[in-house]
Amino acid sequence: SVKVRFAPSPTGFVHIGSLRTALYNYLFAKKMGGTYLLRVEDTDQSRLVEGAIEGMLKAMDWAGVNHTEGVVLDENGKITEVGENGPYIQSKRLDIYKEYIKELLDNGHAYYCFCSKERLDKVREVQKSEGKIPKYDGICRGLSKEEVEAKIAAGEKYVIRLKLPANKEIKFNDIVRGLVTINTDDLDDQVLMKSDGFPTYHFAVIVDDHLMGITHVIRGEEWLPSTPKHVYMYEAFGWEAPTFVHLPNILNAERKKLSKRHGDVAVEDFRKKGYSPEGLVNYVSLVGWSPEDNKEIFNMKELEEAFSLERVSKSGGVFDTDKLNWVNAHYIKAADDAVIADLAIPFLIEAGFITEEEAEERYDWIKSMVGVVKESLSYVKEITTKVDIFFKDELELEDDDCREFLKLEHIPTLIDVLKEKVTEADEINEAFIKAMFKQIQKEHGIKGKNLFMGTRVILTGQMHGPEMPLVLTLLGKEKILNRINYVKN
Ligand code: GLU
Repeated sequence: SVKVRFAPSPTGFVHIGSLRTALYNYLFAKKMGGTYLLRVEDTDQSRLVEGAIEGMLKAMDWAGVNHTEGVVLDENGKITEVGENGPYIQSKRLDIYKEYIKELLDNGHAYYCFCSKERLDKVREVQKSEGKIPKYDGICRGLSKEEVEAKIAAGEKYVIRLKLPANKEIKFNDIVRGLVTINTDDLDDQVLMKSDGFPTYHFAVIVDDHLMGITHVIRGEEWLPSTPKHVYMYEAFGWEAPTFVHLPNILNAERKKLSKRHGDVAVEDFRKKGYSPEGLVNYVSLVGWSPEDNKEIFNMKELEEAFSLERVSKSGGVFDTDKLNWVNAHYIKAADDAVIADLAIPFLIEAGFITEEEAEERYDWIKSMVGVVKESLSYVKEITTKVDIFFKDELELEDDDCREFLKLEHIPTLIDVLKEKVTEADEINEAFIKAMFKQIQKEHGIKGKNLFMGTRVILTGQMHGPEMPLVLTLLGKEKILNRINYVKN
């Protein structure tokens, strides 16, 4: 049965592309009734970032992309492992790699290399100046067993390299790319074991994928050029290679690879802005994959049913924030007011609209207010740009259109009438407001746009916004009168 993995390196934040890779693995496993595991690839010890594993696991948990095997956090937030193919953290598997590299050395598919960094740098430099693609020149390929032993005994530092045969075609099938063929003459003798005793990614990945029973390797296309070497190693070991699936890059609007320099790319950035995990996952699923119909809104269950690797596209998918916002707005609208209120409160506190005490004391009011504005939100943090009308007594007019509108002939009358009616009101509620509008029409002949938009501009400083009766009910008598007085003066 199908078994897939997501194999992040704990080198920092979780890129949106990593979320997509994890998601596609997860969806494929779900669709096929298979297993999805998470393995930590930490063999590059110089690039490790403290806390990155925890951050990765939390991000996946938040997004609902859940694995059932591999590295997990326990209830105290500590890293632990589940499953029978562990350890699932590569730095804990060094003995395993030693055992397997010995096999490659013994059967002549790998060799010791004692070349110094200085020499390799020089070789590379010369090759570059000659317009060639830099490549190891193979000096150590011919060392005899005795020479190797003597060097090791003398304490010389070494790496172990893959011994690729000359001029051999390596072929493999990629579900997205089709048949890929490459000649070994165009490949380098990849370092498999480093001088610090750690394997490189290339070696560890094939040993682990094999031992963990991975059937499909689904990963970013930056690994496509490495795959021939991996395929060669599977052959060298006499192992069956998994099926490969290389996902297209996620691009920015300029069709360049999406990177941190161009704004938000970390899952955490989106979480912090109050994107919904369902919205983000829904959107990300569509960057590089398309369903059979034109449907765009998918919850996780629906994605699990609709997803297929065959419909992953070859060309890069553009990350379109407007589209993300459109998808996410759908989830905000659909969510309970209380859910959005709970997410919104920290933003409202941070922006100074409410205090922590008020958040508790006026919770029901906040919930109603959130219910009124959530229709207009793309992500929850945006709420801080939409709620001035509920908090401030002195409202800036939004634009020139408002200023022009307030110069209309009927406005002074409308202001006075509103003041009079609201002052007399026992309670501001929808029924009162509707009745008030009727009376104003009848008694003063102010109607239509003059009446409704006029009231809106006077009381909110805007020409458009949530429905007036809802807004006025939330504002209450005192605030409405403050506003009127402010506009009057
Ligand atoms: N550790 C690699 C990465 O961080 C995984 C590549 C793969 O899936 O083989 O991208």
